[in-house]
Amino acid sequence: MQYPEPIAKLIDSYMRLPGIGRKTAIRLAYFTVTMNKDDVSMFANALKETKQLLKYCSICGDLTDENPCAICQDGQRNQSELLVVEQPKDVMVMENMKNYHGLYHVLHGVLSPMDGKGPEELNIKSLLKRLQSNENIKEVIVATNATPEGEATAMYLAKLIKPAGIKVTRLAHGLSVGSDIEYADEMTLSRAVSGRTEM
Ligand SMILES: [Zn+2]
Repeated sequence: MQYPEPIAKLIDSYMRLPGIGRKTAIRLAYFTVTMNKDDVSMFANALKETKQLLKYCSICGDLTDENPCAICQDGQRNQSELLVVEQPKDVMVMENMKNYHGLYHVLHGVLSPMDGKGPEELNIKSLLKRLQSNENIKEVIVATNATPEGEATAMYLAKLIKPAGIKVTRLAHGLSVGSDIEYADEMTLSRAVSGRTEM
């Protein structure tokens, strides 16, 4: 007995999402059938628009629907601090903490020779260009995750940036080793930012 084709397609689609196994995909597919038409359209449109309207900010590399992004355009932000994160979702984590008011730069990954990720694969060139062309930036705060790759990337960036006379700091420990900043609670993260140390 095979699933009707539209259901089979839906199951396949759900299974492409992270953390969704076959059983959950089947449950979600059958649930979708019971949803009303408007809700399904809204859901489908949200998926489509995510791909159509979102792009990467040409300055910081964050996900945005306007270029430059709202943060890069905001003159009220502290222009002397620039916080470097691995992924766009990390920007949201920091913003939700409401304790940091500077600029961002998104690397889109970390150095990981095993996975073929070298400096060229990351958003590093644009970071250096940004530091060269913007004299307001006095401090780069490296907020890569506390994993071996995150640490290696932080060291690499410090080596590149420090000769330019820009202070490079790393989030304070308190973030447990091997942890992603997205799982840190706001208090811990807030303390990690205010207690950052120079590299
Ligand atoms: Zn931006």
